[in-house]
Amino acid sequence: MSEVLVLVDHVDGAVRKPTYELLAIAKKLGTPAAVFIGGADKAEGAAADLAKFGAEKVYAVDDAEVKGYLVAPKAEVLQQIAEASGSEGPAAILIVSSAEGKEIAGRLAIKLGSGLITDAVDVAEDGSTTQSVFAGNYTVKAKVTTGTPIITVKPNSAAPEEGAGAGTVEQFAVTISDAAKAARIVASNPRQASGRPELAEAAIVVSGGRGTGGDFSAVEGLADALGAAVGASRAAVDSGWQPHSLQIGQTGKTVSPQLYVANGISGAIQHRAGMQTSKTIVAVNKDEEAPIFELVDFGVVGDLHSVLPAATAEIEKRK
Ligand code: FAD
Repeated sequence: MSEVLVLVDHVDGAVRKPTYELLAIAKKLGTPAAVFIGGADKAEGAAADLAKFGAEKVYAVDDAEVKGYLVAPKAEVLQQIAEASGSEGPAAILIVSSAEGKEIAGRLAIKLGSGLITDAVDVAEDGSTTQSVFAGNYTVKAKVTTGTPIITVKPNSAAPEEGAGAGTVEQFAVTISDAAKAARIVASNPRQASGRPELAEAAIVVSGGRGTGGDFSAVEGLADALGAAVGASRAAVDSGWQPHSLQIGQTGKTVSPQLYVANGISGAIQHRAGMQTSKTIVAVNKDEEAPIFELVDFGVVGDLHSVLPAATAEIEKRK
């Protein structure tokens, strides 16, 4: 079976969960092979984790010529590995659907002359994908028919599957062009660590809207009890209560967690666009006519400032 390349998403060698989800998809399409761009010592450590989730091979690429630049060198890394893998090339190349992942995928598609599908929420065994588009109003089934299918997949679209792969590490030497190194990173803003999971990849998201009145303590308390990420509606962001990076919706992030808890959020179409593919949706709203209740699995009509602390206390009691 041909290899399916999975670009590893990691922070200093610590592999992030969406990569394991891609490996589960890769197993359906061929032989999973991870592409780890980072130092050799970190590659060895990551290879053990990647093997645990099914990677048969780990291409370890030194990052001396990649670190410090924007995304173009990473596209060249994938291009060179794809071109080295025989005349037919890999069966597919899978990348996490982040802003960076999608830019790498776009550049790679041009370089390989391949078709590209972004933001897939499901990939079938025959390589056909499912996307949720136009604010979730349409579901598109599509398949790449030209070249090596390049697919970016949204976090939480597949469950990671433990199942030992060989995890054989192969050092892969790359030559990065000067053109790819034209855009160099001269300064970066380190993310402020909140101690909570990353919003786009969290399994549980607890979000708050205008109904919080600007007091997010009950929302944050429930999020911390559940080990969840905190999100917000645009009304809450526009009021300056939360940063834009936490906004969910058409002009914010799209999340697809196992559990989404919307608090004091009316359920406007633009908010739904960012959360309606969540597996289970719960809402707390004091207005029983609120449109959010049209799409929930469980709804609580009540004041979030009393419902959430009671739920949080109950969860803490059961821990
Ligand atoms: P509201 O609609 O004001 O709802 C507040 C809710 O809180 C009400 O249902 C109320 O009953 C309830 N409530 C009040 N007090 C309590 C309480 N104590 N306990 C429980 N419930 C209470 N919105 C987004 O969220 N994300 C986007 O990306 C986005 N993009 C947009 C793009 C465009 C082009 C446009 C035009 C709009 C966009 N919006 C977006 C805005 C969207 O239309 C809504 O205005 C917004 O989602 C409303 O936020 P909200 O639900 O928090 O506030």
